[in-house]
Amino acid sequence: MPNPFSGDGDWYKGNLHTHTTVSDGELSPQETIRTYAEGDYDFLALTDHDAVVDYYGLDPHGMTLITGCELAAGRGELDQTLHVVALGLDATPQLPDSYNFAELVAAIAAQCQLCFLGHPFWSLIEASEIVDLQGHVGIEVYNATCQHGCARGPSEMVWDILLAHQKRLWGFAVDDAHRSEDYCQGWVWVRSAEDSVAAILEALKEGHFYASAGPRIYDLGVEAEEVWVRCSPCRQIAVVEATPGGGFSTGRLAAQPPFEEAHLPRQFPDHPFRVEVLDDQGCKAWTNPFFSEEAAS
Ligand SMILES: [Zn+2]
Ligand SMILES: [Zn+2]
Repeated sequence: MPNPFSGDGDWYKGNLHTHTTVSDGELSPQETIRTYAEGDYDFLALTDHDAVVDYYGLDPHGMTLITGCELAAGRGELDQTLHVVALGLDATPQLPDSYNFAELVAAIAAQCQLCFLGHPFWSLIEASEIVDLQGHVGIEVYNATCQHGCARGPSEMVWDILLAHQKRLWGFAVDDAHRSEDYCQGWVWVRSAEDSVAAILEALKEGHFYASAGPRIYDLGVEAEEVWVRCSPCRQIAVVEATPGGGFSTGRLAAQPPFEEAHLPRQFPDHPFRVEVLDDQGCKAWTNPFFSEEAAS
C-alpha cells in the first residue's frame, strides 16, 4: 500500500455502514443524509439490510453518496451470521442458496465495487473461519453500534491474526447506525485526489485511508527501522506488528502523555505492521497495515 500520509490528495471523512427506515434504522434516508452532513462528513453510504437505497430525488446536502447494502452471508461454527457490507452497486446482489462463507462472499464481491466483513467480534467469527475467504478488501476493525449494544465494537485481534497470515486486508471503522445514539462515532478518513464516488471507492480498495473513532493522524513516515507519527493529543501511540509479541508503544518510552508525536522502532521489519493511536477518552484511530516489501514507499 502506498503510504496515504505521503504524496498528493486531500482527506475526506465518511461513514460506510448505516441503516435507515428502508430496513431497521430509525431515520429515513433523507434524515440520515442530513444527520451526517451536519456532522461535517464528506461522503456516506446507506447500507440497509438486503436493500440498496435509490438516491434519486434525495438532497445529498453536499456529500458524495455511495450506494451500498449489508448482506447476511451464511452461518459460522457457532451458527452465527457473517455480515458483509457491499459498496458501489445498483441492485441487491443475488446470492446462491448456500451456508458456505467462501461461496457467498465471492458472489457478493462479483456484484459490487468492493465489500468488507462486518463486525467479526459481534458475530464471534474466528479468524480461522475467514482466513481463506477471497474477494473482500477488509474487515470492520471498529463498529460503534456493536460497542453500544454489547461492548463488542473492536475487532483488532481477528484483524491481526489475518495480517499475521499475510492477508492484505484493510480495517474500517463504521457507525452501523440504527438509532440516534449511533451516529458519528466511527468513520474513515480517505486520502484522495477528489471526493467523487469513483475516486473514494478506488482509494478504499487500495487501502488509501485510515479508520478512527476519535483521534486524527496528521502524518506518518516509515523507515527501515522506525515509524514516526504525528497526531492529535493522545495517551498512547503504538506500532502493532503482525507476529506474536510484535510491537512497540509509547508505553515503553520514558515520556509522559499526552503525546502528539512519537518515533517508534520496528522490531520485526519482515512482518506487516499497523499503527494505533489511543486518546484520553479511550477512543482509537487505526492505520491500515504496511507490508514489508512496500513499507518504504
Ligand atoms: Zn451487521
Ligand atoms: Zn449493519
